[in-house]
Amino acid sequence: MAGLYAALNLAPRSVTIISPKPLGFDASSAWAQGGVAAAMDEHDTPEAHANDTVMAGDGIVDADIATFVTSAAKEHVLELADVGTPFDRLGNGDFLMSKEAAHSFARVVRVKGDQAGAAIMRTLVKEVLNTPSITVMQGVTALDLIVKNNEMCGVVLANGENDPFVIQAKAYLMAAGGAGSLFMKTTNPPTVRGLALGMAARAGAEIADAEFVQFHPTAMDLELDPAPLATEALRGEGAILINKDGIQFMQNIHKDAELAPRDIVARAIFREHQSGNKPALDTRSAIGANIINQFPSVSEACLKSGIDPVRQPIPVIPAAHYHMGGVATDIKGKSSIKGLWISGEASSTGLHGANRLASNGLLEALVYAATASNGIIQAIENNEYKIFDKNLPVPKVGFNLIDEKVILELRKAMSNWVGVIRTGEDIAKALRFIKKLDLEHGGKSTNFDNMLAAATLIAAAAYLRKESRGGHYRKDFPNKNDNFQKRSKMNLVDALVLRNSL
Ligand SMILES: Cc1cc2nc3c(=O)[nH]c(=O)nc-3n(C[C@H](O)[C@H](O)[C@H](O)COP(=O)(O)OP(=O)(O)OC[C@H]3O[C@@H](n4cnc5c(N)ncnc54)[C@H](O)[C@@H]3O)c2cc1C
Repeated sequence: MAGLYAALNLAPRSVTIISPKPLGFDASSAWAQGGVAAAMDEHDTPEAHANDTVMAGDGIVDADIATFVTSAAKEHVLELADVGTPFDRLGNGDFLMSKEAAHSFARVVRVKGDQAGAAIMRTLVKEVLNTPSITVMQGVTALDLIVKNNEMCGVVLANGENDPFVIQAKAYLMAAGGAGSLFMKTTNPPTVRGLALGMAARAGAEIADAEFVQFHPTAMDLELDPAPLATEALRGEGAILINKDGIQFMQNIHKDAELAPRDIVARAIFREHQSGNKPALDTRSAIGANIINQFPSVSEACLKSGIDPVRQPIPVIPAAHYHMGGVATDIKGKSSIKGLWISGEASSTGLHGANRLASNGLLEALVYAATASNGIIQAIENNEYKIFDKNLPVPKVGFNLIDEKVILELRKAMSNWVGVIRTGEDIAKALRFIKKLDLEHGGKSTNFDNMLAAATLIAAAAYLRKESRGGHYRKDFPNKNDNFQKRSKMNLVDALVLRNSL
């Protein structure tokens, strides 16, 4: 969504989009179920939305960024509606909004219950394909950034058939998503596995808040990879969490019970799961047969796996869902590498802090796609950047396919040792294991090198944060510590030094 929205904002300037799959496939954006958070109601305000964002982020949200993003939210929802997104409406034409966890107001605009991401992406893909200034290269993956003296000179691309090739431009926007599929249990598409993070880090970019991964509490536990999501809106509609004995376990844990912040619900479900209590989401009395029409994606995934959501509770398990960390950007969406902008989940702008407020992910992707592309327009008009000379220091890339079994080993290590509940000892195990994989397989596949770099950064930052905050929970340091009340910043060199020291 970030990439497409930015390309449209840049029109009529010439833009090339690189996409490994046909546009809209295997992007988290197309899978988003809840919607976009925005203070659309006349009784709601961007200030209240910013305040909820700061509270959810558990002490380390950049309040200026929260104010900036929430103030821009309405404008971008209206823009999406203008280009044809069929948001759910009330009889009087106002937006129908869901209330999601940790929001003080019903402020999430949605489409047919759980279809927001798919509907917005369909709308944007259509617009992009109808915009003559945009060229789309489908079936192409970015492998490596070419950087000289900390300035972008080009990107190495591969299409799996021919030799890797280089593309150059006056400015580069990376919008290649988060890192969920670096973990074994995830709700993210398989291509969303830290490639942007790893690529930028290998090129020297500063990384922020890498330790903060949000585990969605209610992925469906149906032995599917990726795990389908039982959207939070179900709990917003009154669905309850029960264990195998039918006991509603959230009431004893948090005053907001099922609508407590995601990390608290995720840990409660994880513990029930570890104790063999088979946690499940029970939608029967709150939603009943309406689940079929109101939440078609959820119903379809259940029915495919032999669960009838009208009559049976849905088995759930926490799964890696959203990366609050990413490539560090300034307020304009620029990375520490000259000429490289980052938008969407690949970035770490400071909006989410230690924990993302529900439905702020798509919002950030939209606001920062617009902000970054405006920055690019300004930079190009001011002749700040040129297309780099032809004597490029082209890196040697490996484009062998890595055995999926090796990737699975990495993902298992991340889920087992850097997952919902962490300890220093486990994280050290993960870092030693990532090093072993690097020694055995590093340099053969640049894609895998990017994954290893991303995994190293997430684990190293998790090792160093000796406290529990937001999505990062350390069993050996279960409390918050004021000395850590700041965002983390790291580069790959420092993370590798730590990895080698363990
Ligand atoms: C199941 C699910 C439900 C969600 N629900 C919500 C919700 O209701 N509201 C909300 O706000 N957020 C939600 N989120 C989070 C939100 O969808 C994401 O944060 C957001 O879509 C990220 O957008 P993006 O444009 O940054 O990345 P994506 O939409 O993930 O797009 C990244 C693109 O980059 C491509 N790519 C990856 N690597 C490379 C490479 N090396 N070279 C070239 N291209 C590459 C990918 O194929 C993909 O097309 C949800 C996420 C999931 C997984």
